Amino acid sequence: QRAKPSAFQLTLRPDNIGVITIDVPGEKVNTLKAEFVEQVNDVLLKAQQHTALEGLVIISGKPDSFIAGADITMIAACTSAKEAETLAKKGQSTLAQIAAFPVPVVAAIHGACLGGGLELALACHSRICSLDEKTALGLPEVQLGLLPGSGGTQRLPRLIGADKALDLILTGRHVRARQALRMGLVDDAVPQSILLQTAIERVKRGWQSKRELPWQARLLNGPLGRSLLFSIVRKKTLEKTHGNYPAAERIIQVVRTGLDQGSASGYEAEARAFGELAMTPQSAALRSLFFASTALKKERGGNAQPHALHRVGILGGGLMGGGIACVTATRGGLPVRIKDINETGINHALKYSWDILGKRVRSKRMRPAERQKQMMLISGSTDYTGFEQADIVVEAVFEDLALKQQMVAEIEQHAAPHTVFASNTSSLPIGHIAAKAQRPQQVIGLHYFSPVDKMPLVEVIPHAGTSEETIATTVALAHKQGKTAIVVADRAGFYVNRILAPYINEAARCLLEGEPIESLDKALVDFGFPVGPITLLDEVGIDVGTKIIPVLVAELGERFAAPAAFDAVLKDGRKGRKNGRGFYLYPSEGQQRQRRKRADTSVYLLLGITPKSHLQPATIAQRCVMMMLNEAARCLDEGVIRSARDGDIGAVFGIGFPPFLGGPFRYMDELGAGTVVKTLEYLQQRYGEHFAPCEKLRRMAQQGERFYP
Ligand code: NAD
Repeated sequence: QRAKPSAFQLTLRPDNIGVITIDVPGEKVNTLKAEFVEQVNDVLLKAQQHTALEGLVIISGKPDSFIAGADITMIAACTSAKEAETLAKKGQSTLAQIAAFPVPVVAAIHGACLGGGLELALACHSRICSLDEKTALGLPEVQLGLLPGSGGTQRLPRLIGADKALDLILTGRHVRARQALRMGLVDDAVPQSILLQTAIERVKRGWQSKRELPWQARLLNGPLGRSLLFSIVRKKTLEKTHGNYPAAERIIQVVRTGLDQGSASGYEAEARAFGELAMTPQSAALRSLFFASTALKKERGGNAQPHALHRVGILGGGLMGGGIACVTATRGGLPVRIKDINETGINHALKYSWDILGKRVRSKRMRPAERQKQMMLISGSTDYTGFEQADIVVEAVFEDLALKQQMVAEIEQHAAPHTVFASNTSSLPIGHIAAKAQRPQQVIGLHYFSPVDKMPLVEVIPHAGTSEETIATTVALAHKQGKTAIVVADRAGFYVNRILAPYINEAARCLLEGEPIESLDKALVDFGFPVGPITLLDEVGIDVGTKIIPVLVAELGERFAAPAAFDAVLKDGRKGRKNGRGFYLYPSEGQQRQRRKRADTSVYLLLGITPKSHLQPATIAQRCVMMMLNEAARCLDEGVIRSARDGDIGAVFGIGFPPFLGGPFRYMDELGAGTVVKTLEYLQQRYGEHFAPCEKLRRMAQQGERFYP
C-alpha cells in the first residue's frame, strides 16, 4: 500500500526561505486529522536539514480555508478520557515544535482559520492574514462542549490578554481580519494578492520584538487584576450557562492555571480537561447536533433534482415577507421581487433589509457599497410585474385560507408554468391551500420562524400531491437562504408548533395555579432554554397562538386546548411585545427602560389569581418539558417528522431546546424510555390525564428501545 501524499509540502525558495503549503489531498477545505502529527514532524525535520534556512512561511493551498478546524470524527472515535487526552497531548507537542523552531515561522492566513487551525497559527512566531471577507479566526471548540486542546488556552491569553482571550474562547465567536489586527491576534492584515510576499518579508526581518499588551490587559494580568477579572468572567458565564455547560467552567479554570502556575501546568491542565470534556454527555449531544445539521445541509429532501433558482417572488412585505426577502437577497444572492397590496408593505420590506445591512455596515462587517449592491437585488410593486420570471414564490400574506387560495390562483395566472408556490402559513393545512390549484404538485409549505434573519430553521411541508421536484426546489431555496430545512408532514401545527403548544399550555396551567410569571420563565431558562415560555408567548404574539391552538384541537384533540381562563388575556387586547401589552411590561417610547423586564401584575387580576410561588423550579421544568417530549415521540410515531434526528434539529433550531441535551430525542435516550414513561405516569396522577404517555413511549419502555442506535 502506497503512503498517502502528505498534506504539508515544503518548497525551498532561492532566498533560503521555506514555504510549507497545507493542502489536504482530495478535500475541499483543510481540516486537521490525527495522521498529520507525523506529517508535520516530517516536514519540519526536512526544513531543518537546510542549514541555510532563514525562516518558514506556512500557507494554505486551498481557496477558502487556512485550516477550518479539527476533524471531529477523531474525537468521537475516542472511547476514554485518557485516549482523548493523549490526542490533545500529541497536538500540543507537535505545535510546540513549531513554537521552538530555530528560525522565524510566519503563518500566512487566508480563509477559515478556526480551532486547531488557529492553534497552529498561534504556535507560529508571527501571523499575517488577508483582508478578504472569507478570512475568519476563532476557537469554536466550546460550541461542541470542548476546549482548544492544542495549546490555544495558553498561547491566546499571552498574546492578546486574558480578558479578550477568554471572550473568544468562551463564546467561540469568529473575528474578521481588521478586528484580529486590532486585538493583536495577527501582526498585519493585507490584500490576499500580497499575502505571501508580506509574510516572506516578515520572515526576512527576523525575530520581531514582542508586542506589548495594552495597559488594561497588563493591569488584568497582575495578581489583583487577575482575581477581579476571573471573578467577573465566572459570574457572567454562569449567568449565561446556568451551569449547564461544563466546558465553559473548565476553560476558565485552565486559562487561570496557566497564568497562575505557568505554561507547563497550563498545558497539562488543558489536555486533561480536553480528555474529560470529550467524554461528557453535553459534548456528545453538541457534536451530534453538529453532525446532524451538517448532514441536513447536504440532503435535498428526497431523490429528485431541484429546479434551478434564478429569481424569487414574495407575496406580502410584512414582518415575515420582509425577513424572507432579506435572507433571499443577502444570504442567497438571488434577485427578489415583492408584491404587496400597498406601498407600505413594499417599503416595510425594503426597510427591513436596509436596517439589517445597516447594522453590518456600522459594525464594519460590510462596506456601504456592498449594502447598495445587495439592496439592488430587492424590488417590489403592487402588481405582478416581474413574477413571470420567478422560479419560486414564497407567500407571506395574512393568515386566511381564501386569501391564500386566491394567491395560488393569481400565481398560476401570472408566473411561469414551472413556478413553485411555497406558503409560509403557520396553521393552515397545505392540502387546503392547494385544493383549488391547477398545479397542486407545485404547491408546498415553507414555514419560517420569526425573526427570519436570525432563526436558523425552516419546515418544508409537502401535501399529499406535492411533487418530489417541488420538495427539492424548496429545500434548495432554504439552503441558499442559509437555513437548515426539515421536511415534515402536512398535519396540524406541523412539527415545531405542535410540540411547542403543549409546553406553553403547561406553563399556562402552572400560572393559573398561582405560580408567578417570573419564576415560570426562570425555571425553564435555568433548565437551558434561551427564554422562558411566557416570554416566548409575548415574543411570538399571544394572538398567534390563538390561530394555531384551535387547529391542533380540531385535528388532534382536546389535549391541546389552552386553559379557558386565558381568553381573558386576549379579550383584554394583549398581543405581547408587538402591541406593548402582554404578560410583561413594555415601557413605551420615552419611558425609562428597566434593567430587568418586569411582569405586568395586572394579568393576575385578569386571570383571577393571587400569585405565590409554590412549585419547585425543577417541577415546573419537568411538567413543561415532559409535555414536549411526549408530543415529540407522538410526532415520530405518526410520521410527522422523518427521523429522531430531524426532530432534535427542529426543537433545538426552532424553539431553542437546550443544545447541551441534544434535542428531545437524545434527551429521552439519555433518560431512558422507562424513566420517561414513569415520570409521565407520575405527573398524570398528580396533574391530570394530559400527561398520559403515548403508545410509542410505552412500547419503547417495554422493549428497552432507544431512538438512536
Ligand atoms: P403581516 O401582517 O406582518 O404581513 C402581511 C402582509 O401581507 C402585509 O404587508 C399585507 O399588506 C400583505 N398582503 C395582504 N394581502 C395581500 C395580497 N393580496 N397580496 C400581497 N400582499 C398582501 O403578517 P406576518 O406576520 O408577516 O405573517 C404572514 C404569514 O406568515 C401568515 O400566514 C402567518 O401566519 C405566517 N407566519 C407568521 C409568523 C410570525 O411570527 N409572525 C411566523 C411564521 C409564519
